[in-house]
Amino acid sequence: MLILNMKPLMSSDKNPQETPKPNPKACSRRQFISQTGKAGAAVSMAGGTSGWLHSNAFAQSAGERPERDKQSGIEVDLPCGEVPMSFIIDDSTPLVNLAHFAIPQFAEVFPNNYKQDWRSLPREIPDSFVREFAGWCRDHGVKGKYSVVPYPACVGWIDRDLPGWTKRELEASLRLIREELPQDWDFHPEMVSHTWVINTKTGRPYEERSQYFMENWRWTDGKSVDELANYLSYALQLLKNVDLPCEGITTPGGFGNRVLPQLSKASLESVRSVFQAEIPHYFRHLYVDERSVAPRVENVTGLDTNDPNCVVSIIGCTGDWFGGWDGLTPGSVDKLITADLQGGRLPEILRRGEPAIMVCHWPGIYYNGEKLGFRIFQEAVRRVERSEWNVKWMKLSEIARYWAAKELTQITLYPVDTSSQSFQVHLKAPYGCPEFTLKLPEYLSGKINSRPGSILMGSKDITPTLMRRISSDQPLNSGTWKVDGGVARVCFDLPKGESGLFFKI
Ligand SMILES: [Zn+2]
Repeated sequence: MLILNMKPLMSSDKNPQETPKPNPKACSRRQFISQTGKAGAAVSMAGGTSGWLHSNAFAQSAGERPERDKQSGIEVDLPCGEVPMSFIIDDSTPLVNLAHFAIPQFAEVFPNNYKQDWRSLPREIPDSFVREFAGWCRDHGVKGKYSVVPYPACVGWIDRDLPGWTKRELEASLRLIREELPQDWDFHPEMVSHTWVINTKTGRPYEERSQYFMENWRWTDGKSVDELANYLSYALQLLKNVDLPCEGITTPGGFGNRVLPQLSKASLESVRSVFQAEIPHYFRHLYVDERSVAPRVENVTGLDTNDPNCVVSIIGCTGDWFGGWDGLTPGSVDKLITADLQGGRLPEILRRGEPAIMVCHWPGIYYNGEKLGFRIFQEAVRRVERSEWNVKWMKLSEIARYWAAKELTQITLYPVDTSSQSFQVHLKAPYGCPEFTLKLPEYLSGKINSRPGSILMGSKDITPTLMRRISSDQPLNSGTWKVDGGVARVCFDLPKGESGLFFKI
């Protein structure tokens, strides 16, 4: 039995609306990997599942993993061999400028921390700006997540009325979101009000005026999975009422910070029960230090069944360096990527080969009509476009799916005898995944490179199809393969269930 030390999964403060607090104590988690179940004739990277045991009360549970033997050297690469990028937009919702309405409520709890002149901020972020922003992003292939706060700062319910705007204006705004955004953006509720906690039995905020009844501070302390799932489901249902499909949730400020294992499970349960999403995800963490920002696939169960479960924690890699959560805090493009395209947080993460997921707040993008945050974002995107990096913009749900498939697909090489002229990579996938990309080790890459060979992809239900070889400078897409720098990469749409790649030399 192998015992490995894992880095603890720690929380970090996400939004500046949250008062600073110490991180949970770092403690190590032990991971037990069973070495039983190796296939006899094959170089087995997988075969049966094993549970992970945890000693860290602060950590989200990883759950099952397929056993993997590194002997074959086959790895799951980044999608199409490109680094994913994404843009997380928090605090957005139809029409309501959340900063204008939330600041006086935050100030009720922390009067010394919220002295912004909120009355001078516009109460609305207009639909014309949503259209302008979405259009520019479409032209540049940008994708990400767009929050829809369903009862923003208790102003009104997106599925009923929004006092201050006509019913027709609310409906037009929702229509715009439904029609313009879903192609490139995931929708998340960012809880119910983002301010006062709502009694889900009455639909009214609780009476107590303290941080223990604020969504983005301490209300979640000590809450169980069921209590959290109830609240998350309530928020998700409000988006369902206005036909905005969700595969994930965003936590406002410090929501869930002290109940991370419960939050992970509650996200899984609520998103599955309200929307039947196959792979729920949530956004709770962002790190701007040396910690990994790779997504975490958590609470995996049922890998050997037809109905597996998991939830993916998506991790941001920047702070709001655009216009701040209040639309009063100027950011800086150089912090994201410098003019010489070498410095800044994005190149640092892209170099690591981890998804570069930026985080902003909608009021800061609009910046009270000055659009300062938007301009910083545009310049960051242009710089990335000019850089050496081949990035792949993805929605958070697409990143979640890719990571679930990357971590949970069993991959087995047949036969063990590497002198054989042909070989096969057997795949057992709990989830289907477009543009799944495998990287072959040098000894296999050399084989298919040296002689004209062919690769067939097929499964029980899919007639084997010939994959097309492309030159090393062409971009990979589904159904193609190439050899670049002695490394072969194969890109295909991975079907759920069992399938295989057949290499004929
Ligand atoms: Zn927020």
